Amino acid sequence: MKLQLLPSTFDENGRAAARQHLACFVVDDLIAFDAGSLALATTPEQKKQIRDVVISHAHLDHIAGLPLYIDDLFATIKRPIQIHATQAVIDVLERDIFNWSVYPRFSELRNENGVVMEYRPFETDREFPVKHLTVRAVDVNHKVPSVGFVVSDGKTVLAMTGDTAEMNGFWNAVNQEEKLSALLIECAFPNELGVLAGNSHHLTPRVLEKELKKFSGDCPVYVINIKPMYSDQVRRQIADLNIPGLDVLEIGKIYDF
Ligand SMILES: [Zn+2]
Repeated sequence: MKLQLLPSTFDENGRAAARQHLACFVVDDLIAFDAGSLALATTPEQKKQIRDVVISHAHLDHIAGLPLYIDDLFATIKRPIQIHATQAVIDVLERDIFNWSVYPRFSELRNENGVVMEYRPFETDREFPVKHLTVRAVDVNHKVPSVGFVVSDGKTVLAMTGDTAEMNGFWNAVNQEEKLSALLIECAFPNELGVLAGNSHHLTPRVLEKELKKFSGDCPVYVINIKPMYSDQVRRQIADLNIPGLDVLEIGKIYDF
């Protein structure tokens, strides 16, 4: 299973930088988990192929690229974009994004080939298929309705938390997996901003260390969703934890799990 965290931030020369403003994880160049930089950083090949988008929650950094992606493809698309999300998230997208004021309600629009976008609501703790993948969404502990995912292609199983603070249900679900190939876990803020992290339902390296004690697997663990302003600080503090197998997921790199 190939996995790539798309770039979303640029350095002073306009090149993709190793800082993450937006969340969009592309699996096998075919399926996007979250859509933060979906329109901005996908290759032409990915744009041709990605018609399934799985959303963890409706925060802007996870959906910003979704309306733009559909807009880009609107005139030419032959198969509608499938948006997989909980009904709670779909309701937010329809009310606050695709509401004709912020952006067109694409779910009501057609091009010459038919509809351009469809919602595929899923329930938590129940597997659902997305192309060749089997996905299970698990509730996590964020400010708004949010899920993490356990994703399998039949050979490889990947778990990703999305945005979250301390949690138990996710660990119960992930610890039942016989063989995980990788775990992706958020760590948004440095230890000094523990209060802000708590208030906004995110992790710091100190809390991440406690959370990982609840994890019984022994696969590599990659940190994701570090706030770009604190990237260096959080990276240093994660390195200082000295936890074997714990690393920060490299932005733009294609991992093969
Ligand atoms: Zn969030």
